[in-house]
Amino acid sequence: MKRHAITAAAVTGLLTGAAMFSSPVVAQERFITIGTGGQTGVYYVVGQSICRLVNRLEDSDIKCNAPSTGGSVANINGIKSGALDMGVAQSDVQYQAYNGTGTFDGDAYPELRAVFRVHGEPLTLLARADSGIETLDDLEGKRVNIGNPGSGQRNTMEEVMDAKGWTEDTFSLASQLDAAEQAAALADNNIDAMVYVVGHPNGSIQEATTTVDANLIPLDGPAIEGLVEEYPYYSEVVIPGGLYKGNDEDVTTFGVAATFVTKASVDEDIIYQSVKAVFDNFDRFKRLHPAFANLKEEEMVTQGLSAPLHPGAARYYRERGWIE
Ligand code: GLU
Repeated sequence: MKRHAITAAAVTGLLTGAAMFSSPVVAQERFITIGTGGQTGVYYVVGQSICRLVNRLEDSDIKCNAPSTGGSVANINGIKSGALDMGVAQSDVQYQAYNGTGTFDGDAYPELRAVFRVHGEPLTLLARADSGIETLDDLEGKRVNIGNPGSGQRNTMEEVMDAKGWTEDTFSLASQLDAAEQAAALADNNIDAMVYVVGHPNGSIQEATTTVDANLIPLDGPAIEGLVEEYPYYSEVVIPGGLYKGNDEDVTTFGVAATFVTKASVDEDIIYQSVKAVFDNFDRFKRLHPAFANLKEEEMVTQGLSAPLHPGAARYYRERGWIE
């Protein structure tokens, strides 16, 4: 037995040595980067979770990483420029980028490809309790964080402002803080309200509501109804009561879906392996964030997607019988 052990150790040593010398030649790892969002949002967990499953694939040379980014619009621009291979983007931003509308007016990106839909994302307006804000209209004259350029919430908030006939001057302050900075700014009384298009529950709203008395504000009225009627990617949604401290009632607002996107030129096998990693381990994936708990595979591959499916994703979904 003893001799056996020594032999095994010697062999291990030899292998390690061989690997060390030959690694520049043998290593043919393919690195992929997924664009996410702020670290207290849900996109960051989407990207980290996909990478965790991709990096555990056996016999795979794909190495995945998912850094924090500015959000949806920044992710699509990163995919376009080649800085990112894939990314998470709101369904409204996906639609606008593919069709060249909204923020992407006149700049359609026909190479954009959908991979799957993830969780729902209500437009979430959170106001300090002492700000006197109880409705959307109460934002006039207040200090509002309308989001960093590049974020999905900035994009959606601009749609709301257009629908209301508002400009940045409508507010006494229109700050552009990153998603991860908003909760502290609200707690420190540097802003009266923050806007976040995000899945629930999430770390950012949790952070804000546990450090200051703050209320989720309903978004309704003719301007919002008009948006939901006009655009296919908006729908009325409810943020359930009881998810956050001091917010026990359901709150009606409107929302989009988080989607996972890439571009046509990303290798078919990379996308196939990535979706396989997620859907072969779907129960594990769903446990990685409470916002994923109600996800259903067949809805994820058919709803909220306006760009065509990437062929690597379509191949896997066909194998599973989810699409024709
Ligand atoms: N919807 C946000 C955006 O597009 C990100 C939300 C999140 O990080 O979960 O920028």
